[in-house]
Amino acid sequence: MQLQGSSGWWNAVANGYRRGRYDDFVPAVSTIIWVGFGIFFGYILWKSGIAMLRSMTMLPPEPPPTGELRKISRKYRCDVCGVEMKMTMAPDDDPPPPRHCLEDMIEVAPLYD
Ligand SMILES: [Zn+2]
Repeated sequence: MQLQGSSGWWNAVANGYRRGRYDDFVPAVSTIIWVGFGIFFGYILWKSGIAMLRSMTMLPPEPPPTGELRKISRKYRCDVCGVEMKMTMAPDDDPPPPRHCLEDMIEVAPLYD
């Protein structure tokens, strides 16, 4: 790019700028690929970030209306600390055991009353 002459420095700068951009643009296929990858991974990150946020802020599913709950009677014991509890209501007849001390509780002999 030539700054001397009577064409004016601004034209020279503008021409040089344009040519520079053009020069950058031609061998930029790899750049375009990288930018594409960047957008792709950004999109993936964005999506997973939203999903993570949603899973963290989402409330647990609402319990079904009381009419749909089954009356059950099961006793569970925590194998870690020994606490025992009785489950009297569940959405189905065979609910998964509750957790205590980060472990699934063990079902004690079922009670029928
Ligand atoms: Zn426990």
